[in-house]
Amino acid sequence: MTPLTMKMGKVKRIALVAHDNKKPDLLEWARFNRGLLEKHELWATGTTGLLLQKELGLEVNVLQSGPLGGDQQVGARIAEGLIDFLIFFWDPLEAQPHDPDVKALLRIAVVWNIPVACDRASADFIISSPLMKEEYARQVPDYSDYRSRRLKLD
Ligand code: PGA
Repeated sequence: MTPLTMKMGKVKRIALVAHDNKKPDLLEWARFNRGLLEKHELWATGTTGLLLQKELGLEVNVLQSGPLGGDQQVGARIAEGLIDFLIFFWDPLEAQPHDPDVKALLRIAVVWNIPVACDRASADFIISSPLMKEEYARQVPDYSDYRSRRLKLD
């Protein structure tokens, strides 16, 4: 069967999220890559987005703060095909009030085969990929079997 694909344009729709202890890391990374990032369409959870606007002067579409639903908004946009990749610096050393949302966001990114960077090294590799300047046909897993599965209803 021909795999389903979804086109990423040359301008990527990038979601950025960082937990509080990781915000300095994300800001430093974004400052270093500011010239590249400004060529793309940026989305971010509330506090991360405001910091990117204020500290770096980047144009960012700011969603709710993560614990207030922002992670879920990013996840919904991924499911709708509106986000091309996710830079998500989550904190491995501290429990979050919205841990279920964090897990859900990481899960939905894999469901839809979205590239995800959870640390700076991965983010460096993604941002310096030659694919950043090209169109890319992202394979979308075929969930038709799942959708048409038979259910036992009685
Ligand atoms: P914030 O959310 O950018 O609003 O701090 C990040 C998160 O915890 O998901």
